Amino acid sequence: MRHRAKRSLGQNFLVDANLQHKIVDAVGAGAADEVLEIGPGKGALTRHMVDRVGRLVLVELDDRLADHLAERYGEREKVEVVHGDVLKVDLQAYLRDPAKTLVVGNIPYNITTPIIFRLLERPRPASIVLMVQDEVADRVVAPVGSKAYGALSVGVRSVASVERLFKVGRGAFRPVPGVDSAVIRITPFRPEPIDIEEEVALRTLVRAAFQWRRKQLRKILRDHPDLGIDPEGIERALQSAGAQPADRPERVDPEGFVAMARSLFG
Ligand code: SAM
Repeated sequence: MRHRAKRSLGQNFLVDANLQHKIVDAVGAGAADEVLEIGPGKGALTRHMVDRVGRLVLVELDDRLADHLAERYGEREKVEVVHGDVLKVDLQAYLRDPAKTLVVGNIPYNITTPIIFRLLERPRPASIVLMVQDEVADRVVAPVGSKAYGALSVGVRSVASVERLFKVGRGAFRPVPGVDSAVIRITPFRPEPIDIEEEVALRTLVRAAFQWRRKQLRKILRDHPDLGIDPEGIERALQSAGAQPADRPERVDPEGFVAMARSLFG
């Protein structure tokens, strides 16, 4: 189909067939699996999955592309085309068994982080394979203490394991974007490592910590407007994470943040 790519929707279509296969292989879905694809576009990944998987839910925001997908695949019983915004539609409502779903997407660059956090809402899927900017992949897998380590690294790795699978040069897309990409796999932990209240507390803590990433932990815990912890609470929290009062947030690993959230709000 002829389609003028919309930059506002992050439309960079993957035209390299080898890479299309490689991504679909990384999802590893078979006849018993339900797959949720985010931003299928012109079907670069969809076409390699449609005969392979048990069920396919396609969420596409672009009017013309969604119509085209519905025309092409709508007749198939196992395919459901959802014309909507992945950040707004009730994804669970379209899935038979959300906790077993395999998610895949070459997702729009401008909303990568919100999409990752959306996909990590409970009940979390079995696995998530995403094409993201190379720099975002770096942040997701960044080692503790490195410059790229931050709220995204901790947010994802406190609830899931992550792998950077392979790099994808910008030349594999049309139109050619300004940056390279990488494919990552996020595999949510089973069983859930933290309960829901602790998770809410963890999000607040991590956001506050990295908003003030140059400050020392003691000061953040005491003075950040979202925290305001008393001295004994601070002592306990630091101990639980094996951290020192003068440490900066980037010194605390994801397990340390979970331990602190538990000690502060558990
Ligand atoms: N999967 C196709 C491929 O690999 O060639 C298209 C990838 S393109 C980078 C991103 C796709 O996401 C586009 O089709 C775009 O229209 C769609 N999209 C953008 N924002 C969206 C949103 N909020 N919800 C669902 N789809 C969206």
